Amino acid sequence: MNSYDELLAAIMPSDGPTRDVLDPATGERIGTAPVHDAAALTEAITAAQEAQPGWAALSDQARRDMLMRVADAIEAAAEPLALLLSREQGKPLNGPNARFEVGACAAWLRATAATDLPVEVVVDDGTDYAELHYRPIGLVAAITPWNWPMMIAIWQIAPALRMGNAVVAKPSEHTPLSGLGLIAVMNEVLPEGVLQAICGDGELGAAMVADPAFGKIMFTGSTSTGQKIIAGSADTITRLTLELGGNDAGIVLPDVDPVAIAEDLFWGAFINTGQTCAALKRLYVHDDVYDQVVEALRGVASAMPMGIGTDENNVLGPLQNRMQWDVVDRLVEAAKADGGRVVLGGEPDRDAAGNFYPTTLIADLPADNALVVEEQFGPALPIVRYSDIDEAVAMANSLDVGLGASVWSGDRDRARDVAARLEAGTVWINSHGGVHPLIPFGGVKKSGYGLEFGVDGLKSLAVPQVING
Ligand code: NAD
Repeated sequence: MNSYDELLAAIMPSDGPTRDVLDPATGERIGTAPVHDAAALTEAITAAQEAQPGWAALSDQARRDMLMRVADAIEAAAEPLALLLSREQGKPLNGPNARFEVGACAAWLRATAATDLPVEVVVDDGTDYAELHYRPIGLVAAITPWNWPMMIAIWQIAPALRMGNAVVAKPSEHTPLSGLGLIAVMNEVLPEGVLQAICGDGELGAAMVADPAFGKIMFTGSTSTGQKIIAGSADTITRLTLELGGNDAGIVLPDVDPVAIAEDLFWGAFINTGQTCAALKRLYVHDDVYDQVVEALRGVASAMPMGIGTDENNVLGPLQNRMQWDVVDRLVEAAKADGGRVVLGGEPDRDAAGNFYPTTLIADLPADNALVVEEQFGPALPIVRYSDIDEAVAMANSLDVGLGASVWSGDRDRARDVAARLEAGTVWINSHGGVHPLIPFGGVKKSGYGLEFGVDGLKSLAVPQVING
């Protein structure tokens, strides 16, 4: 796929029902996506099932080599993929956005291929001998959201393939082309059949969940959909990894240098225009540095250009869809009504063609304001003042989600003490949201269960089998 036009042509549906895909920055139509039905799902399942035994029969080394070659293919098609992602999702080409996301896909594939998963001898004491093996599951369903549509797909697909499984992937109905484009490039290398893509909304996702053909469902999306997936898989007892919603807290201790942390605070909250599961979504700042932190953050945030993603100057884009725009707007209005002080933004152009919402900072909010306690998933950061660390920890832990959190301090040991008290799957110190292909990632509470990445991620895409004797 040497060009954007070639990539787009490869994924445009030739028959069957379709729907238009619009650029969220302009409202312009960029292409059409297929709308698949139950029969198409059955066809995809059948093709994947036929391909899976041959794929599983390859040596682990052969599958590793193949994943490395898939990474090469993604890199070779990086510009067309990034452009497609930018036009459909809205995220700029530049900054930690579209090109960064495509690059991360290649990096994750390579790390997944390079990770060793040796057979574990669990007991060998002269009397008993037992080994733990990780066998292929068979068929894996990969159901993904619209915010990082390529990277999250790779997070699910790469370890599933590595472990000898075939995959049926369903991209979000909001970003079908990003999923189809990525998979088309991967399928230039992979053996026919092992990686299938189908497009549709929650109804098709629910049909996947109910289908006994799948031995594992990898799901990333909202907590409410996760709850439906748990209920929908009760009959089949299908294994689940659930990466669900979050509302990450950041606690700024009094010993920080406000200017030095401002840019990292900004990106922690506003990467991908805030449409990131593990982004900083509520900031608790100690009294002693409160005004300085708010001012330093305002300085950084007001200098970050937002606009159409294909303009190389922009580092922030529109919201991907109007539904999410409405959520952000409602919560910012609730914050204003509750006495929040608008430090930056907060006044969207309601008549603009695209889904742009300005970078918004709202200070002096009560801890129970809706913008603080609900996941807003956009470019609005509420800032809450505290004076006692126990109070800050209690506020951070007060919600029923726990994906990420962060502690900001000049003293690493002090920060680590606070981190240990936070109910979150990952706690970052002096940064927020960075992920690494070898560091396990997952949530607690209603942010889900199961771990992705590294050895733990590989294990989650296999069936453990003990050979005893
Ligand atoms: P969503 O739950 O609405 O949709 C996600 C996917 O699930 C889509 O492909 C959708 O079609 C499908 N789906 C919807 N209903 C379904 C059902 N009943 N059965 C099976 N599949 C169904 O989520 P979204 O709006 O696309 O994404 C935003 C949410 O995802 C946010 O809450 C965000 O925090 C979360 N998220 C979490 C992580 C993480 O790693 N924990 C990462 C990214 C996003």
